[in-house]
Amino acid sequence: MLEAVHTLADLAQWSYPGTALAVLGHPVAHSLSPPMHQAALARLAARDPRFAHWRYFRFDVPPEDLPRALRLLHAKNFQGLNLTVPHKILAVARLAEVEPSARPVGAVNTLLRTDAGWHGFNTDGHGLAMAVQEELRRDLAGTPVILLGAGGAARGAAVECLQRRCAELWIGNRTRSHLDALLVALAPLAQAPRIPLHAFDLAHPPAGLPAHALVINATSAGLRASDAAPVALAGLPRPAAVFDMIYNPPLTPLLRDAGRLGVPHANGLAMLVHQGARALELWTGVSVPVGTMRAAAEAALVKS
Ligand code: NDP
Repeated sequence: MLEAVHTLADLAQWSYPGTALAVLGHPVAHSLSPPMHQAALARLAARDPRFAHWRYFRFDVPPEDLPRALRLLHAKNFQGLNLTVPHKILAVARLAEVEPSARPVGAVNTLLRTDAGWHGFNTDGHGLAMAVQEELRRDLAGTPVILLGAGGAARGAAVECLQRRCAELWIGNRTRSHLDALLVALAPLAQAPRIPLHAFDLAHPPAGLPAHALVINATSAGLRASDAAPVALAGLPRPAAVFDMIYNPPLTPLLRDAGRLGVPHANGLAMLVHQGARALELWTGVSVPVGTMRAAAEAALVKS
């Protein structure tokens, strides 16, 4: 059964005797993480009594309350937290330790309790790589990538592509200043492995874009029914595949265009599931039922 949306005020009287996990966001009511993790915990408990009293809660925490929330949840012995909008970047300065692979991303989505404080991880990149492999049978390693967007999700995706040694990385964005800031942050990661890194204006894709690339949409264009695709796919050299991080709606204008062109394509649901599965592995230390998590996320989406 799904828990109510909690606030910090509930922590003063907090008395859950089992092992608690939670997602913090603002807003958080529509997060798919609670049903996805609750389903996985029920499955784990059925085969291992150690997990019988694990439960996943959700907390609506405005950004100004995040420092206090992290202190209180640590004091109340929460074992792990997920962070969603707007906390992923804000939390970094409040951690005892940040996983080295998450440092260039500058954002964390998973916290693990340690005695010294919270240890931060970013499992979004892992989710992306797993989803691209599972849904599109592609490895980021050795693949030319055209990434659309320069926000938080794009930054995580770009770091993952560079850390996994993609063949080349082209990043297109609407606002040039956001794109330039991202390029400055990424340049050191691309330098040593000598991965070509280029920027372009989404409205004017250059002729030099690679053919047979993996196109990844990390813009929010497509979330609303009125949105156009972030780029005219038919104007690009034919891609090998298109991955859209958006999963609600399941078929964005970009994915519809890919379908019309006969290009393999997938939405972001598998990414959501795999970032969550990696987080649950970090908290529990065991392998987790990914299929159960996917089924629960799909069911929750239908109800949303
Ligand atoms: P941000 O707000 O940080 O960034 C939004 C990006 O989208 C910016 O690059 C922005 O460009 C661009 N953008 C917004 N509207 C348009 C438009 N109409 N046309 C072109 N570009 C546009 O958001 P996030 O990076 O956090 O999230 C991006 C998307 O990724 C969201 O849809 C989110 O739901 C999805 N996501 C999915 C995940 C999953 O697990 N599947 C995980 C994380 C995110 P500009 O710089 O010009 O403003």
